[in-house]
Amino acid sequence: MDYETVIGLEVHAQLLTASKMFCSCPNQFGDKPNTNICPVCTGQPGVLPVTNKKAVELAIKTALALNCTVEPSSVFARKHYFYPDLPKNLQISQYELPLATKGHLEIEVDGVKRKIGITRVHLEEDAGKLVHQGAARIMGADSSLVDYNRTGTPLMEIVSEPDLRSPREAAVYTETLANLLRYLAVTDAKMEEGSLRCDANISLRPKGEAKFGTKTEVKNINSFRAIEKALLAEEKRHEEVLSEGGKITQETRFFDDVTETTTGMRGKEYAHDYRYFPEPDLVPVEPPRTWVAEIKATIGELPWQRKARFVGLSVAGEAAQLLVNDKPLADFLDAAVKLGAKAPTVANWLIGDITAYCKENKKELAGLNFPPAELAELLTLIEKGTLSNKIAKEVLFTALQTGKPVKEIVAASGMTQISDEGELLKIAQEVVKSNPKQVEQYKGGKEAVMMFLVGQMMKATKGRANPEAATRLLKQALG
Ligand SMILES: [Zn+2]
Repeated sequence: MDYETVIGLEVHAQLLTASKMFCSCPNQFGDKPNTNICPVCTGQPGVLPVTNKKAVELAIKTALALNCTVEPSSVFARKHYFYPDLPKNLQISQYELPLATKGHLEIEVDGVKRKIGITRVHLEEDAGKLVHQGAARIMGADSSLVDYNRTGTPLMEIVSEPDLRSPREAAVYTETLANLLRYLAVTDAKMEEGSLRCDANISLRPKGEAKFGTKTEVKNINSFRAIEKALLAEEKRHEEVLSEGGKITQETRFFDDVTETTTGMRGKEYAHDYRYFPEPDLVPVEPPRTWVAEIKATIGELPWQRKARFVGLSVAGEAAQLLVNDKPLADFLDAAVKLGAKAPTVANWLIGDITAYCKENKKELAGLNFPPAELAELLTLIEKGTLSNKIAKEVLFTALQTGKPVKEIVAASGMTQISDEGELLKIAQEVVKSNPKQVEQYKGGKEAVMMFLVGQMMKATKGRANPEAATRLLKQALG
């Protein structure tokens, strides 16, 4: 039987606030365990939480960019469960009345655009972090350590509709969303560090069937690459069970990225298991409309708007997408274009040689002393005919390696293109003289030989001849 895959994602993003969700402890990653804690975030008796306004602002900004409706009133709720990383035995989250609802995000997979519904965006607090000794998870571990630094970190949860139809779509959705969140500067969206996490609900149903099949939830997806892998593994498992006439059990499953398989963790909880009720210590979130409008005005250019603008500057669609996916590269292009460089040329250099250099040397463009003005300078030298493309590449690598200005490198090396045509003509005549066989072939009608002769001129000038001038002068020398 042919099955259709149905996927919905819950993405959790840690918000870039200075302090935690309901207390003034610093919200930062990588500190000594259990140092950024206080009576509020460790759930001591008699304390009162206070909502972090910045977290509300960042979540509203996200909701607006996702075309959601920001609700006039939303309520925090207590979600009860018992786990060693949760000192209060409850998590403050939002349940019946979330911050924002009913939006969408457009994704593009292999040139096809699709709108994925966003069910809701809500705020909650993060739990602590368990560090297991001797195993990757609590089951099978010799012991587990608890770090409460993360407890109470502001989390935003973005829940999608079950609109995704393949593991690949799910991966593209998550990457598109993460990129949007980086543009909005609401999170750094690093899956490997846990500042962005993704739980996936997946089910299969016979093609044409309107009713959803039984779903499972996949957890422990720790990288963008793992999303597609985890869902492919779970999709395959569903298909095998169903095609053998078996039934899927609704449960939470753990993805092991070494074996690339999922294993059962626990029976899926239902909402009533959490005994949700409104948090009595917090007032509802009622953002004034004027404030929402002010937040809306702070949303800058969004990734897809930027892509459209780059395409308008004659950058190819695929190149524009690559640049927009890497904000520092896109910022670099904008800065270079402002200095007069042509966008498609800048795009080629950025995606080509500059990215290759950064990858090879495991460096970030921002970490090199190579500002946009230097690339603009280099491109001007090519356009003016001072540098050939080949020499310009050498200058680029020297600039990237040493951090020296392009002008200085060019002046010191004498690598400028030979513009004295008399000098070039002499070299052309010598090339003709020393390659009689090829000259004969050329004169016999084999025009492709010209490439070889131009190559010889490049060799003789160490790449300092302009290829067009070389071709023209060779033809002159050939008579
Ligand atoms: Zn605290």
